[in-house]
Amino acid sequence: MTPDRLKELVRTVPDFPARGVQFRDITTLINHGEGFAATVAMLSDTVEGSKAARIVGMEARGFIFGAAVAARLSLPFVPIRKPGKLPIDALGVDYALEYGTDRLELDPGAFEEGERVAIVDDLIATGGTALAAAQLLRQAEVEPVCAAFVIDLPDLGGAARLREADVPVSAIMSFP
Ligand code: 5GP
Repeated sequence: MTPDRLKELVRTVPDFPARGVQFRDITTLINHGEGFAATVAMLSDTVEGSKAARIVGMEARGFIFGAAVAARLSLPFVPIRKPGKLPIDALGVDYALEYGTDRLELDPGAFEEGERVAIVDDLIATGGTALAAAQLLRQAEVEPVCAAFVIDLPDLGGAARLREADVPVSAIMSFP
């Protein structure tokens, strides 16, 4: 399957979660067996090329793709969670949203010191979420060597912000 065909499997929902937002819905992509498999294969090629030793994925849609890529490559997977979900003392990073703030948390004991780690998520928009993930990894003293997304929204500038922070970025498709 080509990236253009995969793009056709993403459903666009107008005015969700707020008026004026075009939500790119990946549930229709993962509900297509061949489409899901092709997406995971493409993400896996990127992660494999980065020589990452471990994969992190952000709650919740990053779990779907990150865990699938990890299993395909036989790499370990570490969830980056919303606040208060991890049962141990976690590292945390607060980051700005359009309205208010959010927080992501990570188990610092989940890594080997200095290792190469890949970030996987469904979509990059402003980059706030992925930058918070990269910051968490650096706090955990490991190296974010790759950030692989299914979808990039380039007009929102997230991929550019991530590259400025020295994190290599790739996406299967983009919606300008
Ligand atoms: P950012 O932090 O880059 O502004 O937003 C990316 C995060 O928000 C990702 O974790 C992603 O799951 C979620 N997100 C924002 N907009 C969309 C969208 O249109 N579709 C989907 N599937 N996720 C979105």
